[in-house]
Order: sequence, then structure tokens, then C-alpha cells
Amino acid sequence: MILVLNDTATEADIDKIKEKIYSSGLEIYELIGLNYHILGIKGDINSLDLKDLEENKAIDKLMPTEVSQMKSSKLYKTENTIIDVSDQKIGDKKLAIIAGPCSVENENQILSIAQFVKESGANFLRGGAFKPRTSPYSFQGLREEGLELLKHARELTGLPIVTEIMSINHIDKFIDYVDVIQVGARNMQNYELLRELGKTNKPILLKRGISATIEEFLLSAEYIMAGGNENVILCERGIRTFENFTRNTLDLSAVVALKKLSHLPVIVDPSHSTGLWWMVEPLSKAAISAGADGLMIEVHNEPEKALSDGKQSLKPENFTKLMEKLKALAKLEGREI
Ligand code: PEP
Ligand code: MN
Repeated sequence: MILVLNDTATEADIDKIKEKIYSSGLEIYELIGLNYHILGIKGDINSLDLKDLEENKAIDKLMPTEVSQMKSSKLYKTENTIIDVSDQKIGDKKLAIIAGPCSVENENQILSIAQFVKESGANFLRGGAFKPRTSPYSFQGLREEGLELLKHARELTGLPIVTEIMSINHIDKFIDYVDVIQVGARNMQNYELLRELGKTNKPILLKRGISATIEEFLLSAEYIMAGGNENVILCERGIRTFENFTRNTLDLSAVVALKKLSHLPVIVDPSHSTGLWWMVEPLSKAAISAGADGLMIEVHNEPEKALSDGKQSLKPENFTKLMEKLKALAKLEGREI
């Protein structure tokens, strides 16, 4: 179990909590950082009075997960994880800007967008080859041909490739073709897929499930990490709420919570979060200010003709303008682009 202590908890409050835990014969791992104080409790928590802890004002959050299993937790590793992806790093001072179309559509489209986003300052190229579409009658992606085109785009621009995997059967191919393997929101709880990806050492960008809690999200990361692959990047991409003006509701508080609980890099996808291109700029800024380590942004040369997600895709010139603004903001936040 993990207890996240409140910023206002006094030493006396914390001592009392610890005393209770120790007197139940349990072990405590304690982690104190600049803006967090976490107690990990190891052992059988059935001997604890949970209600008493839940009502304790010194405790912000109580997560029942067994701490010894949480490799994603700051209790397991205090330093923030920095993931090497070819000549780039994710989770370091420099923000990861992953930009590109929703889907790879043809050679000219992906190559021209790749060159464009690179010139504007993106350091990764995204593009779906295998697309998880809600309707089986919508464009499903160019599949293997899409991977070939992404490889070509990498040769041309040097940008590492981020693209989504849908099936265990494609893992070998993705290892050859892709720099960061994306697990989409719909597959966040495809535990067999996560387990198999845990056996590789490829960086995995794990998107939050459409209605997953923060704890479920971290436990999915755990499936990958448990197998030995600790190169996991978390991506907040909006959750389903009652609101339907936007496609999803961007949960920026999840970024703050994940940065408090976990050492893994956290990025934000304002495009899928909102479904609206004109919301991408303000929410990108908000994400950086909330502590995100990067952004995933959809860009299309002709959004009105895009085969998927045109409404949320930025036109190239708007992406350039956005990057200029984000460069200044990143500096203010002690980061860089
Ligand atoms: C995507 O990034 O192409 C995608 C389908 O995103 P999500 O899994 O967040 O819906
Ligand atoms: Mn998309």
C-alpha cells in the first residue's frame, strides 16, 4: 500500500501514522522529495485500520497496491527516469515533442510532414500505420506499408519514429522498424500485449485508457516493467467524462499526480484529449506548466482531407507558431525545446 502524505502534515502527524503501521508488524519505505512525501507499506495490510487512515487529514491519498510490486513508483527508484531513444532523450530537461499525422496516408504526405515538423523543432515523428478505429469501415491504416514509409521518413529526417502497435504478432516487425512503440488507449489493459512488450527493451509509450484511473494506468505500466523493460513513457490523452463538447477531457491533474508518484516520464497528447485543433495551443502550454516531459501533437498538411482525426490536426504553419510560443514557455519552466 502507498500513502501519499499531505504537504501540511506535521512531524507529529507522520510519527503517529508510522507508529500505527509499525505496531501492526508492517514495514515502511519512506520517500521524501521536493514536493512529495510518500510512505510505502509492505506486508499484509489487513491488520491495519484502513478507515482510520482514510480519515486522517495528514494523508492525501491511499493506494492499496502492494508496494513491492511497484517498479514505476518513486519508492522503487528515486531519480527520474531518462529514456534514450537514438540521439534523443525523454524525461530530461529537453521536452520531447512528438509530432506528425494521425495516420500515415501516402509517401508524399508523411515525408513532407516529417520534414516540416523537424524544421519547426519537433524531435520525434508520430504516424499511425495500424489504426485502432471505432468503426471497422473507417480507414484502418496502411499497416506494413505504413511502417516502411515511416522508416523512409526517419532516413530522410533522422527523427525517431513513434507508432502504435495493435497486436502481439507485430512485435518483431516493430522492433526492427520503430524507435518508440506506442500502446494506444484502447490497449492499455491488453495485459498479454503489455507482458510481451515487457520482454523487449524498446521504449514503450503507454497511453492512458479511455476510462482508466491513475492507479490502473500505473499498474499497466507495471505489466511492462515487471517483465524487465523499464523504458516506459506515460501519456495522458484525455479520459471519457459526461462532457461531450470535447472528444475527451484532458486530465492535467493526472500529470501532477503521476510526477509525484512515479519516476517515469509523462507526456501529454492535447490532440486526442480535445479533438479540436484550436485547443491544442492553450492545453500544450498548460501541460508544460503542469510538469509534462513532452507533448504528442497531430499535424497534417491538409487537415480537411485527412483520413483520420483532421479536426484535431494542426496545419503546418500553426504548428510552427505553436513551437515558437512553447520555446519561450519551456525556458520559463526550466525546460527547453
Ligand atoms: C493515436 O495516438 O493515434 C491514438 C489512436 O491515440 P489514443 O490511443 O490516445 O486514442
Ligand atoms: Mn489520431
